[in-house]
Amino acid sequence: MRCFLCQLPLQLAHHGICSRCVNILPRLNKVCPQCSLPHSLPAKICYRCRATKPNWDKLIAVSDYIQPLKKVIHHLKFYQKIELTLALARLLFLAWYDDYLQGKLCKPDLVTCVPLHHSRYWSRGFNQSQLLAKPVAHWLNRPFLPYLLQRQQKRSDQKKLSLKARSINVKALFACQTDLTGKTVLVIDDIVTTGNTIKAISEQLKKHGAAHIQILCLCRTLL
Ligand SMILES: [Zn+2]
Ligand SMILES: [Zn+2]
Repeated sequence: MRCFLCQLPLQLAHHGICSRCVNILPRLNKVCPQCSLPHSLPAKICYRCRATKPNWDKLIAVSDYIQPLKKVIHHLKFYQKIELTLALARLLFLAWYDDYLQGKLCKPDLVTCVPLHHSRYWSRGFNQSQLLAKPVAHWLNRPFLPYLLQRQQKRSDQKKLSLKARSINVKALFACQTDLTGKTVLVIDDIVTTGNTIKAISEQLKKHGAAHIQILCLCRTLL
């Protein structure tokens, strides 16, 4: 088994990407702890979050949506390279763990993922966020609830819509039937773009009593 990025033989085959390639991945630095967008004082929340406070509490991202992660995610989603799941899940876990070691996070009570609409699930055959979240929940030794959130209605393709239309498109998109009173919930997604999806999800989770919401994603697109 070879590293997906540099093609050198892997010492630990299940890692998918070698430790050298992991270490040189471009990371986000100097970002706001709440929205993960660029911010000169990373110890404090940014002016955007102060103006409109997000309804989630922490957003942890591995990288901007750039190479080489972009290519790896693309291969997972569109070429069904399911064997990349563990490599990507490991990156997610390491990003979370890094913040945890620095005392910026508490351990969640449960882990969930952003649900995919049925039609997309059937065309793709899997929900990449669910595949990524399962091993993370296992490493955290916390329950994994992949169906905590349900999608309500069919949405138009987000990519084809304007920013404003995207925001309307995700409204009332998710439902939750579980009491989450006092719980810390970790939500896993592959890419966070506008933040509208995680906003709609966080709204539902808070409505059902969640006390603290952590969002963990591979890429945060820097708008
Ligand atoms: Zn490598
Ligand atoms: Zn912010």
